[in-house]
Amino acid sequence: MIDKATIDRIHDAAQIVEVVSDFVTLKKRGVNYVGLCPFHDDRTPSFSVSPSKNICKCFACGEGGTATHFIMKHEQLTYYEALKYLAKKYNIEVRERELTDEEKILESERESMFIINDYARNYFKNTLHTNPEGRSIGLSYFKERGFRDDIIKKFELGYALEQRNAFSSDALRLGYKQDLLIKTGLVAGGENNSPLYDRFRGRVIFPVHTLSGKVVAFGGRILRNADKTAKYVNSPESEIYSKSALWWRAIPMYYQCIRQGLRMLYLLQELHSLQDK
Ligand code: ZN
Repeated sequence: MIDKATIDRIHDAAQIVEVVSDFVTLKKRGVNYVGLCPFHDDRTPSFSVSPSKNICKCFACGEGGTATHFIMKHEQLTYYEALKYLAKKYNIEVRERELTDEEKILESERESMFIINDYARNYFKNTLHTNPEGRSIGLSYFKERGFRDDIIKKFELGYALEQRNAFSSDALRLGYKQDLLIKTGLVAGGENNSPLYDRFRGRVIFPVHTLSGKVVAFGGRILRNADKTAKYVNSPESEIYSKSALWWRAIPMYYQCIRQGLRMLYLLQELHSLQDK
């Protein structure tokens, strides 16, 4: 972990104009600088950089923030990696401090939760493509909604079986710990030895990725008619999933698409296909 004083030194040193200029050609306009936005298909210079506020902002797509945020988003880095990048650029010696015992436990728990989410992502994905129920209910639903194969693949969409504990019993059998399965929000129940059940059962699955591609949460849409059941279910906040964390800026978009159903995801597909060009 990088010590606080080093982080402060990096933030003080990083000049937004210099940082952005490594990737975007900037022209001075008044007190600010403008350039073509690297985060959307920009024809007019919409990307504004303010040296006095030391931030950047796109007035078309809304992307922007501090130098650290710009690097995270542009280079697809974690907060830690972006700080290291900036430290190198500004020749700042990075001092890392030892984690406390408490932090070590938390860190290994976080890692285990990412491993579980990774397993779940693959499990739901495989279920969608290879399980008869997954194919006939989940995959056919996506197809009917006009999802292209490459989009299903790109967003790593999946399906959770209707059976109450199909996912959890498989996960437990493979040795994943019950308390961590519950902490990720994939599994619920278990209080006073009550049976476990899969939170997302009978739903198509939308994984929520960080910018670096790790899965922090899931959203699920139910397909059968069930009056008493919420149409959309999302992972609860957890050690690895904070809806407010600034550096998971991608999440609100996914969230919206889950909340508003597939139409929003459709929009997202269009955005992504634009970016691919
Ligand atoms: Zn933009």
